[in-house]
Amino acid sequence: MSQTSENQARCLVCEQTSATVPLLQFEYQGSQNWICPQHLPILIHKPAELAAVLPGAENLVGGHG
Ligand SMILES: [Zn+2]
Repeated sequence: MSQTSENQARCLVCEQTSATVPLLQFEYQGSQNWICPQHLPILIHKPAELAAVLPGAENLVGGHG
């Protein structure tokens, strides 16, 4: 979970790089983050589960249903 000084994009959940998976970039609270397609649904539907790796996400309301 430590912030890397490298300029390499990684999924904030599984830390895979774009060498392994396609990565999608998004901005949250002014910070650029990357997430892979495997974890994108979590960001959409259950963002609170990402609170450990995405501070503030516990306040997000995911899609219901
Ligand atoms: Zn991932």
